[in-house]
Amino acid sequence: MTHGTSQKPSLRAVERSKTPEDPSQCPRCFGTGIELTADGAKRCFCRVVRDDADQSKRAKLPRRYDNCHFSNYKPQNPSQTAALRYATTFTMEYPAVDRGLIFMGTVGVGKTHLAVSILKGLAERGFSCLFYEFGALLKEIQDSYNPNTFTSELSVLAPVLNTEVLVLDELGASKPTDWVRDTLGHIINTRYNDKKLTVFTTNYLDSRPNEREETLEDRIGVRTRSRLFEMCKSVEITGPDYRRGIDSKQ
Ligand code: ADP
Repeated sequence: MTHGTSQKPSLRAVERSKTPEDPSQCPRCFGTGIELTADGAKRCFCRVVRDDADQSKRAKLPRRYDNCHFSNYKPQNPSQTAALRYATTFTMEYPAVDRGLIFMGTVGVGKTHLAVSILKGLAERGFSCLFYEFGALLKEIQDSYNPNTFTSELSVLAPVLNTEVLVLDELGASKPTDWVRDTLGHIINTRYNDKKLTVFTTNYLDSRPNEREETLEDRIGVRTRSRLFEMCKSVEITGPDYRRGIDSKQ
Protein backbone atom coordinates (compact mmCIF):
# COMPACT_ATOMS: atom_id res chain seq x y z
CA MET A 1 0.00 0.00 0.00
CA THR A 2 1.24 3.43 -0.69
CA HIS A 3 -0.05 5.88 1.81
CA GLY A 4 -2.14 8.92 1.23
CA THR A 5 0.36 11.60 2.11
CA SER A 6 -2.14 14.31 1.28
CA GLN A 7 -4.68 12.92 3.78
CA LYS A 8 -5.42 14.97 6.88
CA PRO A 9 -3.59 13.50 9.89
CA SER A 10 -5.79 11.82 12.50
CA LEU A 11 -6.22 13.30 15.97
CA ARG A 12 -3.92 10.58 17.26
CA ALA A 13 -1.25 11.48 14.72
CA VAL A 14 -1.46 15.13 15.79
CA GLU A 15 -1.22 14.16 19.47
CA ARG A 16 1.66 11.81 18.68
CA SER A 17 3.59 14.64 17.05
CA LYS A 18 3.09 16.68 20.24
CA THR A 19 4.20 13.85 22.51
CA PRO A 20 7.84 14.25 23.55
CA GLU A 21 10.25 11.31 23.24
CA ASP A 22 11.24 11.70 26.88
CA PRO A 23 8.16 11.00 29.07
CA SER A 24 9.44 13.27 31.84
CA GLN A 25 9.10 16.20 29.43
CA CYS A 26 5.35 15.72 28.83
CA PRO A 27 3.71 19.13 29.41
CA ARG A 28 0.41 17.49 30.44
CA CYS A 29 1.50 15.04 33.13
CA PHE A 30 5.14 16.08 33.75
CA GLY A 31 6.17 12.44 33.52
CA THR A 32 3.68 11.09 36.06
CA GLY A 33 1.48 9.41 33.43
CA ILE A 34 -1.59 10.92 35.13
CA GLU A 35 -3.24 14.01 33.75
CA LEU A 36 -5.48 16.19 35.94
CA THR A 37 -8.55 17.39 34.07
CA ALA A 38 -11.82 19.10 35.04
CA ASP A 39 -13.36 15.58 35.17
CA GLY A 40 -10.69 14.27 37.51
CA ALA A 41 -7.46 12.31 37.08
CA LYS A 42 -7.04 10.21 33.94
CA ARG A 43 -4.33 8.36 32.10
CA CYS A 44 -2.26 10.88 30.15
CA PHE A 45 -2.47 10.80 26.37
CA CYS A 46 1.32 10.49 26.17
CA ARG A 47 1.01 6.98 27.66
CA VAL A 48 -1.79 6.01 25.27
CA VAL A 49 0.29 7.16 22.31
CA ARG A 50 3.31 5.28 23.63
CA ASP A 51 1.24 2.07 24.07
CA ASP A 52 0.04 2.37 20.46
CA ALA A 53 3.63 2.74 19.30
CA ASP A 54 4.76 -0.27 21.38
CA GLN A 55 2.00 -2.44 19.95
CA SER A 56 2.81 -1.39 16.39
CA LYS A 57 6.48 -2.11 16.99
CA ARG A 58 5.78 -5.55 18.43
CA ALA A 59 3.48 -6.37 15.50
CA LYS A 60 6.17 -4.98 13.13
CA LEU A 61 3.64 -2.62 11.60
CA PRO A 62 5.39 -0.12 9.33
CA ARG A 63 4.89 3.50 10.44
CA ARG A 64 3.01 4.28 7.24
CA TYR A 65 0.04 2.39 8.65
CA ASP A 66 -0.12 4.51 11.83
CA ASN A 67 -3.23 6.20 10.52
CA CYS A 68 -5.23 3.06 9.62
CA HIS A 69 -8.08 2.35 12.06
CA PHE A 70 -11.59 0.96 11.77
CA SER A 71 -12.86 4.39 12.76
CA ASN A 72 -11.49 6.08 9.63
CA TYR A 73 -12.38 3.39 7.10
CA LYS A 74 -15.20 4.92 5.06
CA PRO A 75 -17.04 2.27 3.03
CA GLN A 76 -17.75 3.46 -0.51
CA ASN A 77 -20.03 0.60 -1.64
CA PRO A 78 -21.80 -2.50 -0.24
CA SER A 79 -18.74 -4.75 -0.71
CA GLN A 80 -16.72 -2.37 1.51
CA THR A 81 -19.50 -2.18 4.10
CA ALA A 82 -19.53 -5.98 4.22
CA ALA A 83 -15.72 -6.15 4.42
CA LEU A 84 -15.69 -3.70 7.34
CA ARG A 85 -18.33 -5.79 9.10
CA TYR A 86 -16.35 -9.04 8.61
CA ALA A 87 -13.21 -7.33 9.89
CA THR A 88 -14.80 -5.83 13.02
CA THR A 89 -16.72 -9.02 13.83
CA PHE A 90 -13.51 -11.04 13.50
CA THR A 91 -11.68 -8.63 15.81
CA MET A 92 -14.43 -8.62 18.44
CA GLU A 93 -15.10 -12.35 18.41
CA TYR A 94 -11.51 -13.60 18.25
CA PRO A 95 -10.44 -16.14 19.57
CA ALA A 96 -13.92 -17.67 19.20
CA VAL A 97 -13.57 -17.78 15.41
CA ASP A 98 -12.74 -20.77 13.24
CA ARG A 99 -11.26 -19.14 10.18
CA GLY A 100 -9.10 -16.20 9.18
CA LEU A 101 -9.96 -13.80 6.37
CA ILE A 102 -8.60 -13.21 2.91
CA PHE A 103 -9.33 -9.76 1.51
CA MET A 104 -9.29 -9.92 -2.29
CA GLY A 105 -9.56 -6.97 -4.65
CA THR A 106 -7.80 -4.53 -6.88
CA VAL A 107 -5.31 -1.93 -5.64
CA GLY A 108 -6.47 0.79 -3.23
CA VAL A 109 -9.82 -0.63 -2.07
CA GLY A 110 -8.67 -0.72 1.56
CA LYS A 111 -7.57 -4.33 2.02
CA THR A 112 -4.41 -3.45 3.94
CA HIS A 113 -6.24 -0.72 5.88
CA LEU A 114 -8.71 -3.31 7.21
CA ALA A 115 -6.06 -5.98 7.87
CA VAL A 116 -3.98 -3.46 9.84
CA SER A 117 -7.07 -2.33 11.79
CA ILE A 118 -7.70 -5.95 12.78
CA LEU A 119 -4.14 -6.32 14.05
CA LYS A 120 -4.36 -3.12 16.06
CA GLY A 121 -7.68 -4.16 17.59
CA LEU A 122 -6.36 -7.60 18.56
CA ALA A 123 -3.05 -6.24 19.88
CA GLU A 124 -5.06 -3.82 22.03
CA ARG A 125 -6.91 -6.84 23.44
CA GLY A 126 -3.56 -8.40 24.33
CA PHE A 127 -3.14 -11.01 21.57
CA SER A 128 0.24 -11.47 19.92
CA CYS A 129 0.12 -10.22 16.35
CA LEU A 130 2.55 -9.86 13.48
CA PHE A 131 2.38 -8.05 10.15
CA TYR A 132 4.44 -8.97 7.11
CA GLU A 133 4.29 -7.90 3.55
CA PHE A 134 4.81 -11.28 1.90
CA GLY A 135 7.62 -10.13 -0.40
CA ALA A 136 9.50 -8.55 2.52
CA LEU A 137 9.17 -11.75 4.54
CA LEU A 138 10.61 -13.81 1.67
CA LYS A 139 13.52 -11.39 1.42
CA GLU A 140 14.24 -11.61 5.15
CA ILE A 141 14.24 -15.40 4.95
CA GLN A 142 16.54 -15.32 1.92
CA ASP A 143 18.89 -12.82 3.55
CA SER A 144 19.20 -15.05 6.61
CA TYR A 145 20.14 -18.09 4.51
CA ASN A 146 23.41 -19.67 5.56
CA PRO A 147 25.00 -21.50 2.58
CA ASN A 148 27.26 -23.53 4.89
CA THR A 149 24.43 -25.15 6.79
CA PHE A 150 21.81 -24.88 3.99
CA THR A 151 19.40 -23.42 6.52
CA SER A 152 17.70 -20.10 7.10
CA GLU A 153 17.76 -18.33 10.41
CA LEU A 154 14.90 -19.68 12.54
CA SER A 155 14.61 -16.30 14.24
CA VAL A 156 12.89 -14.96 11.10
CA LEU A 157 10.44 -17.80 10.60
CA ALA A 158 9.68 -18.75 14.22
CA PRO A 159 7.63 -15.62 15.07
CA VAL A 160 5.70 -15.99 11.79
CA LEU A 161 4.78 -19.56 12.69
CA ASN A 162 4.16 -18.87 16.37
CA THR A 163 2.29 -15.56 16.56
CA GLU A 164 -1.38 -15.90 17.43
CA VAL A 165 -2.58 -13.80 14.50
CA LEU A 166 -0.51 -13.12 11.40
CA VAL A 167 -1.28 -10.68 8.60
CA LEU A 168 0.34 -11.59 5.30
CA ASP A 169 -0.07 -8.62 3.02
CA GLU A 170 0.13 -8.77 -0.78
CA LEU A 171 -0.11 -12.51 -1.20
CA GLY A 172 0.81 -13.56 -4.73
CA ALA A 173 2.79 -10.41 -5.49
CA SER A 174 6.12 -12.26 -5.52
CA LYS A 175 7.21 -14.21 -8.59
CA PRO A 176 5.88 -17.72 -7.96
CA THR A 177 9.04 -19.84 -8.01
CA ASP A 178 9.09 -23.32 -6.46
CA TRP A 179 10.91 -21.94 -3.43
CA VAL A 180 8.30 -19.20 -2.92
CA ARG A 181 5.48 -21.73 -3.15
CA ASP A 182 7.23 -24.19 -0.80
CA THR A 183 7.91 -21.45 1.75
CA LEU A 184 4.33 -20.20 1.63
CA GLY A 185 3.04 -23.79 1.84
CA HIS A 186 5.20 -24.43 4.91
CA ILE A 187 3.95 -21.28 6.69
CA ILE A 188 0.32 -21.91 5.86
CA ASN A 189 0.36 -25.61 6.73
CA THR A 190 2.19 -25.13 10.01
CA ARG A 191 -0.21 -22.40 11.13
CA TYR A 192 -3.20 -24.44 9.96
CA ASN A 193 -2.03 -27.51 11.89
CA ASP A 194 -1.47 -25.38 14.99
CA LYS A 195 -4.95 -23.81 14.59
CA LYS A 196 -3.49 -20.33 14.31
CA LEU A 197 -5.42 -17.76 12.33
CA THR A 198 -4.05 -15.75 9.44
CA VAL A 199 -5.43 -12.72 7.62
CA PHE A 200 -4.31 -12.29 4.00
CA THR A 201 -4.64 -9.53 1.46
CA THR A 202 -4.20 -10.10 -2.24
CA ASN A 203 -4.66 -8.17 -5.47
CA TYR A 204 -5.46 -11.43 -7.26
CA LEU A 205 -8.96 -12.84 -7.61
CA ASP A 206 -10.32 -16.35 -8.10
CA SER A 207 -11.87 -15.50 -11.43
CA ARG A 208 -9.88 -14.16 -14.35
CA PRO A 209 -10.98 -10.56 -15.03
CA ASN A 210 -9.57 -10.84 -18.57
CA GLU A 211 -7.42 -13.16 -20.70
CA ARG A 212 -4.12 -11.57 -19.68
CA GLU A 213 -4.63 -11.48 -15.89
CA GLU A 214 -3.57 -14.29 -13.59
CA THR A 215 -5.75 -15.70 -10.80
CA LEU A 216 -4.68 -16.20 -7.20
CA GLU A 217 -4.46 -19.92 -7.94
CA ASP A 218 -2.04 -19.21 -10.82
CA ARG A 219 0.16 -17.26 -8.40
CA ILE A 220 0.22 -19.53 -5.35
CA GLY A 221 -0.67 -22.95 -6.76
CA VAL A 222 -3.80 -25.11 -6.62
CA ARG A 223 -2.98 -26.84 -3.35
CA THR A 224 -2.25 -23.69 -1.40
CA ARG A 225 -5.35 -21.92 -2.74
CA SER A 226 -7.43 -24.92 -1.75
CA ARG A 227 -5.91 -24.88 1.77
CA LEU A 228 -6.74 -21.18 2.03
CA PHE A 229 -10.40 -21.95 1.30
CA GLU A 230 -10.38 -24.10 4.44
CA MET A 231 -8.44 -21.59 6.53
CA CYS A 232 -10.09 -18.33 5.55
CA LYS A 233 -13.34 -16.69 4.61
CA SER A 234 -12.84 -14.99 1.23
CA VAL A 235 -13.95 -11.36 1.30
CA GLU A 236 -13.96 -9.67 -2.09
CA ILE A 237 -13.77 -5.87 -2.06
CA THR A 238 -14.59 -3.87 -5.16
CA GLY A 239 -14.23 -0.22 -6.05
CA PRO A 240 -11.84 2.30 -7.52
CA ASP A 241 -8.47 3.14 -5.96
CA TYR A 242 -9.36 5.20 -2.87
CA ARG A 243 -6.16 7.22 -3.17
CA ARG A 244 -7.28 8.65 -6.49
CA GLY A 245 -10.22 10.35 -4.81
CA ILE A 246 -8.41 11.57 -1.68
CA ASP A 247 -8.37 15.24 -2.74
CA SER A 248 -12.11 15.32 -3.36
CA LYS A 249 -12.74 13.60 0.02
CA GLN A 250 -10.92 16.28 2.06
P1 ADP B 1 -5.12 -1.99 -0.81
O1 ADP B 1 -4.44 -2.75 0.28
O2 ADP B 1 -6.49 -2.52 -1.16
O3 ADP B 1 -4.26 -1.79 -2.03
P2 ADP B 1 -4.95 0.19 1.03
O4 ADP B 1 -5.59 -0.40 2.24
O5 ADP B 1 -3.47 0.20 0.98
O6 ADP B 1 -5.45 -0.53 -0.29
O7 ADP B 1 -5.55 1.65 0.83
C1 ADP B 1 -4.84 2.68 0.12
C2 ADP B 1 -4.99 4.00 0.87
O8 ADP B 1 -6.34 4.41 0.85
C3 ADP B 1 -4.61 3.93 2.33
O9 ADP B 1 -4.09 5.19 2.72
C4 ADP B 1 -5.93 3.66 3.05
O10 ADP B 1 -5.91 4.14 4.37
C5 ADP B 1 -6.89 4.45 2.17
N1 ADP B 1 -8.23 3.85 2.05
C6 ADP B 1 -8.60 2.86 1.20
N2 ADP B 1 -9.91 2.61 1.29
C7 ADP B 1 -10.38 3.45 2.25
C8 ADP B 1 -11.68 3.69 2.81
N3 ADP B 1 -12.75 3.02 2.39
N4 ADP B 1 -11.78 4.62 3.79
C9 ADP B 1 -10.72 5.32 4.22
N5 ADP B 1 -9.46 5.14 3.70
C10 ADP B 1 -9.29 4.23 2.73
